Amino acid sequence: MSTLTKADLKRFKDQLEAERDDLLRQQEASDSDRAPVSLDQQSVGRLSRMDAMQVQAMAKAVDGRRRTALTQIDAALKRLETDDFGFCVVCDEVIARKRLELDPKVATCVACAG
Ligand SMILES: [Zn+2]
Repeated sequence: MSTLTKADLKRFKDQLEAERDDLLRQQEASDSDRAPVSLDQQSVGRLSRMDAMQVQAMAKAVDGRRRTALTQIDAALKRLETDDFGFCVVCDEVIARKRLELDPKVATCVACAG
């Protein structure tokens, strides 16, 4: 049995949905950052062109992390629907409440996380 109450689950759900909305908004906002870097040497000096490429690479890395987080959030929301939330997906043990409060996306207990 999970030690989480209905109120707890509701709170985690709200938290997950808020985080998802936030990520989706950021994703939309950053779409323009991922446009191909202009290599026009006339208008952009060598250094600033490298800056632009660095910014783009960082935007891509951030975007990748965002996608991973969104996938984890969707999976956590699905677990909430099927009453699997709060249980480790590997060993089926109860995930410590503190761990969930820190990040409701976590899908494993501490033992299985390592
Ligand atoms: Zn486990």
